[in-house]
Amino acid sequence: MRDLIVVLGDQLDPAHALIADMDPEQDRVWMAEVDDEATHVWSHKARLVLFLSAMRHFRDDLDRPLIYHELGAHPDLAAALAADLTQHQPQRVRLLKPGDWRVEQSIEQTCRDAGIELVVDDDPHFICSLADFEAWADGRKRFLLEDFYRWLRKRTGILMRNREPAGGRWNYDEDNRASFGRGGPGKLPPRQRFDPDATTQSVIDLVEARWPDHPGELADFDWPVTPAQAQQALDDFVEHRLAGFGAHQDAMWTDAAFLSHSTLSAALNLKLIDPRSVMDAAVQAWESGHAPINAVEGFVRQILGWREYVRGLYWRDMPQWLDENRLDAQEALPPMYWTGQTEMQCMQQAVGQTLRYGYAHHIQRLMITGLFGLLLGVRPREVHAWYLAIYVDAVEWVELPNTLGMSQHADGGRMASKPYVASGQYVKRMSNYCDGCRYDPGDATTDQACPMTTLYWDFLARHEDRFADHRRMRFQYRHYARKNSGERAAISRRANTVRKLARDGQL
Ligand code: FAD
Ligand code: SF4
Repeated sequence: MRDLIVVLGDQLDPAHALIADMDPEQDRVWMAEVDDEATHVWSHKARLVLFLSAMRHFRDDLDRPLIYHELGAHPDLAAALAADLTQHQPQRVRLLKPGDWRVEQSIEQTCRDAGIELVVDDDPHFICSLADFEAWADGRKRFLLEDFYRWLRKRTGILMRNREPAGGRWNYDEDNRASFGRGGPGKLPPRQRFDPDATTQSVIDLVEARWPDHPGELADFDWPVTPAQAQQALDDFVEHRLAGFGAHQDAMWTDAAFLSHSTLSAALNLKLIDPRSVMDAAVQAWESGHAPINAVEGFVRQILGWREYVRGLYWRDMPQWLDENRLDAQEALPPMYWTGQTEMQCMQQAVGQTLRYGYAHHIQRLMITGLFGLLLGVRPREVHAWYLAIYVDAVEWVELPNTLGMSQHADGGRMASKPYVASGQYVKRMSNYCDGCRYDPGDATTDQACPMTTLYWDFLARHEDRFADHRRMRFQYRHYARKNSGERAAISRRANTVRKLARDGQL
């Protein structure tokens, strides 16, 4: 055998670059389902079903020579690969850059031990190669998303007209932060469902039997698991929801999990669909007058901007990122993250829908579950393990920077210059969660006090030395300065109570 082409569970690209190039006479594709990839974090059942079902569909559709191991044959990827290297003795192992530093390390070590050359190519699924990201980052003091995004738009010509931003502006963020107001989101078209076929159903049965105590539910599993379904999901989004995506991108509403979001992240991250075709479809919708520019620019910004940017940062800063805890957060992750059992409506909603679908939209992740962990002072490694386990779209290259960088400020501000902190008043403004809550977002000190509000002021107090002079936090500290010593002491007392209640599952 000449080349053994390793295809990982998040590399199910129908145009996989190494498979497209292979010689079926001499080369073999290699895939393995292994327990360790399912259990190294306590994965949501829907995440397990999604990966395994998509892998099996990929296997069944592939018309090239393939070595495929189903679950149970080997405990981990290294053991599975080592056994086949011994048996088949390929001249080389070839791999596209994985989505996880740990996996890359393990494959490198396995090939070294076997004395077989490993060739890792960058994954052309991504628009910005890692070499180009390095060239962009080189010599910069700060890696600002806005700078990177504009640079990449100019480079690719996406949403550009004669080197100027299409629509006349680079940034429509200000138009895209509206709440729904009292009326709520109104009637939204339901998102397209993909009922489990026989392959998916057999994987559902397998997951229920093998990992019965893992978190999450499977009754509503309807994620796309093939490229054709991913394309249908994109068409459905562009037709029915893209136009409404922009303005209310940050808004939240009780029992409305998906709103106008695309829910394409899992299909993108498993490489079932190409980001270029996703953005092309959105841009075409603007050109044909089907969707406004603020929606389309906001959507392109997420994919061309954030998605490419976090990947570049991940590979630049691993593995140091994993161990950082610059705010010295030492609380354990409270049980409500795994159960959704709390009287905090915002957490109950965000965690509840996460357990049901394996999905929450960006602001729920950043400004509900992420915010609460940050304010409480949960150890970043535990927050990271939760996010990696609980969302169907979680792959470390995208999850980790969002969690440790953007959400938990564990890197001390390398990614986000200031921590994303807010009180319950923000949640009240952006959702209707507070309406049905036993806590009061305007209260920081009594038994009715909103935990977000109490912990917000407590966060400012605990980190005053670090952030009081921060240019972008002066406004927040100006408010804090108005609190007298009695109020400050009461906030600190209540914050200690809130921490204890959270630990005991009583909040
Ligand atoms: P939409 O709102 O429709 O956005 C369109 C697409 O843009 C998404 O599908 C996604 O591919 C991309 N995108 C949007 N925001 C981001 C972002 N901040 N970083 C990278 N890409 C982005 N996204 C993941 O794909 N996997 C994760 O494991 C993940 N973990 C996160 C953890 C935290 C703490 C936070 C704050 C965000 C995380 N995100 C993650 C980013 C974002 O929340 C999800 O991509 C988004 O909610 C997915 O839903 P959607 O497909 O409906 O996105
Ligand atoms: Fe969340 Fe506080 Fe609002 Fe309750 S009052 S929903 S805890 S922000």
